[in-house]
Amino acid sequence: AAVFDQLTDSLEAAWTKLRKEDVLTKDNIKEPIKDIRRALLEADVSLPVVRRFVKSVSDKAIGMGVVRGVRPDQQLVKVVNDELVALMGGEMVGIEFAKTGPTVILMAGLQGVGKTTACGKLALFCKKKGKSCMMVATDVYRPAAIDQLVTLGKQVEVPVFEAGNQLRPAEIAKMGLAEAKKKGIEVIIVDTAGRLQVDRGMMDELKQIKQVVNPTEVLLVVDAMTGQEAAGLVASFNMEVGITGAILTKLDGDSRGGAALSVKEVSGKPIKFVGEGEGMSALEPFYPERMASRILG
Ligand code: GDP
Repeated sequence: AAVFDQLTDSLEAAWTKLRKEDVLTKDNIKEPIKDIRRALLEADVSLPVVRRFVKSVSDKAIGMGVVRGVRPDQQLVKVVNDELVALMGGEMVGIEFAKTGPTVILMAGLQGVGKTTACGKLALFCKKKGKSCMMVATDVYRPAAIDQLVTLGKQVEVPVFEAGNQLRPAEIAKMGLAEAKKKGIEVIIVDTAGRLQVDRGMMDELKQIKQVVNPTEVLLVVDAMTGQEAAGLVASFNMEVGITGAILTKLDGDSRGGAALSVKEVSGKPIKFVGEGEGMSALEPFYPERMASRILG
């Protein structure tokens, strides 16, 4: 089943209840609103987000009054669509490229979320935009991490800077940046080490790397499968390290998609890309409008 199937079906139940009504009223919207609330909670959207969302939908739908030529169920669909788009940040927010000098993208995230994969995908994305690119391997803890990035680099034909696993990550990042500058590379993607959960060591290390490379973008990679927790993770990394956006991975898996709806609202930071597969081309910019259309089916 695709990620939003369940949510789409559950929302459908809400509109259906209005099919026989002539106008939207405070009374006849109550049950559909409860359905929407339940549907979002079941999709793993975080509770405070659901609360604000249904209140806003209810107020707006009732406030609209009678709209000539528009049936009440269509009216509610329209309000939910607009509110979904707003909830996800409204506009697509792409990569911000540096105005002068190289664009440095620092990648952060817990272990196993798809961070290294996302580095390769992003490198390919930037390459397709005509930018020269280099990746830097600073994960000195996981033995296979450097090899993995080198392999991905070969796949997407982007050079990888690595300096073994004996130096400090910030030191390697600094060397990588110098090397890239020397070669006139336009985009430098710095892969970092994750941990199984949030810990001080990881946050301190990210701060050190950040200080050294002065990144244009700090992107947190989050796994859609973590559901409700995804949005909280974005908020906590933002507080600790300061990020510019998120990449939501594994949206092709059997997550219920709630993270896509909660991240912006909970953390204040936009989702910039979604990953929907293991392949290097499975990365798409995050368009709130398209996502809302997918949700509404
Ligand atoms: P890291 O520890 O965060 O660097 O995670 P990896 O990049 O090594 O990815 C962990 C696993 O998730 C690998 O098996 C990847 O192929 C897989 N993966 C990464 N992104 C996606 C995605 O968007 N969809 C799916 N289905 N798998 C993904």
